[in-house]
Amino acid sequence: MTLRFEPSASTFGDLERLHAIWLLATCLLATLFESLFAPLTGKRRGLRAFQESYALDRLPPLTPEERRTLPILSGCIACGLCDLGEGLRVARSAGVYAGTMDLMLASSRSMPDFDAAMRSFAAVPEERLAELERRCPARVPMQKVAAFVRAKGLLEEEEVRHSQTAMAARASRGRRGNAERRGN
Ligand code: SF4
Repeated sequence: MTLRFEPSASTFGDLERLHAIWLLATCLLATLFESLFAPLTGKRRGLRAFQESYALDRLPPLTPEERRTLPILSGCIACGLCDLGEGLRVARSAGVYAGTMDLMLASSRSMPDFDAAMRSFAAVPEERLAELERRCPARVPMQKVAAFVRAKGLLEEEEVRHSQTAMAARASRGRRGNAERRGN
């Protein structure tokens, strides 16, 4: 009599689960090991490294205070009242400014697009924002939104410049190292 092993579907399922657990465990150990020896190996770690990694995605960090303020800044209910009387400014902006509602509802909610939102806000004077703020039924603090977008937009630009400089320096060091290894 010959015994044959015929794996069932559940055996394959168990093996896949074991494989996944093994992969996760080895990745976790490798990460912990890397973190532990980061100061000795010179690997980048910490907030500065995190900021450098995400700078080109234009995602600056938020302070706890800013995180608490965000829900207040994004209270627009899309009623359109703040767009009344903005037609001429929209037309004059040649596509840069699409109205205040667009700024409060869309442009100011996506941090990677704050460079465009800053240009858009520049088309609306502060006094006009204060006037429209009083008209808003949801009491959206438009001037605060503008200040937040400008502050983060400028920070993004600074971080992008810093990250590009750091990348160029690393590339230059790499080229120099390669040249030295080749004996040039
Ligand atoms: S008036 Fe206020 S709630 Fe209405 S669209 Fe403008 S920002 Fe939004």
